[in-house]
Amino acid sequence: MVARIARLLVVPLILAILVTGALVAAGRIVLPPRWDPFAPFDIVETPSFLTRFKFARARDDGDLCRAALTRGGIAFEPVPDRVTGEGCGFTDAVRTPTVGATRLASPVIVTCRVALSLAMLDRHALGAAARRHLGTPVTRIEHLGTYACRNINHAASGRRSRHATADAIDISGFQLADGRRLTLTADWSSADPGRAAFLRAVRDAACVWFDVTLSPDHNPLHYDHFHFDVGGGRACR
Ligand SMILES: [Zn+2]
Repeated sequence: MVARIARLLVVPLILAILVTGALVAAGRIVLPPRWDPFAPFDIVETPSFLTRFKFARARDDGDLCRAALTRGGIAFEPVPDRVTGEGCGFTDAVRTPTVGATRLASPVIVTCRVALSLAMLDRHALGAAARRHLGTPVTRIEHLGTYACRNINHAASGRRSRHATADAIDISGFQLADGRRLTLTADWSSADPGRAAFLRAVRDAACVWFDVTLSPDHNPLHYDHFHFDVGGGRACR
């Protein structure tokens, strides 16, 4: 009996979803942007169950990605596509002095999709983690670079690193509004629980917005930086 009622409900429900979807796609029903899967991606919007879909769509399309950065107030200049060697070069790259609203110690060239991932990390995790664990915001992010025509782990042979296509950034430290400074080298295993907890909160949040997030937990080569990249495999360590 219950199974029969369930069957009777399933068909109308699927039909209702399909009809509603068709009306939204045709523009006959206008949803608030946050609930509209086809609305332009908005970095500032509070994440919902649709955010992953909208983020992936914006991240994988250069025009949509640059439009999202502009809408989010992220300062950047487009960089012309470039091939610099075998397996090296970039498309849809930007030059930016910031990670979202937070300044970098020096400007970087990264693909737009890295810039968008950084902006999401900054907007939805960095400030909150700093206030919670350190009681003050982050004012500046220190890095070891982004684009570099090289192999993984600087090996003489083997696969190209995501750095070779400007799809990666190495972050080494954070300057805080109260003048304190954190580095991965000194603070990953800090005796100050707030410092260590902040760095782990950043690592965990980066795993949401990047495909690969590597911390000092990954291997000894990463003792002094976080490696964040997009476009390759998946890892969160
Ligand atoms: Zn790296």
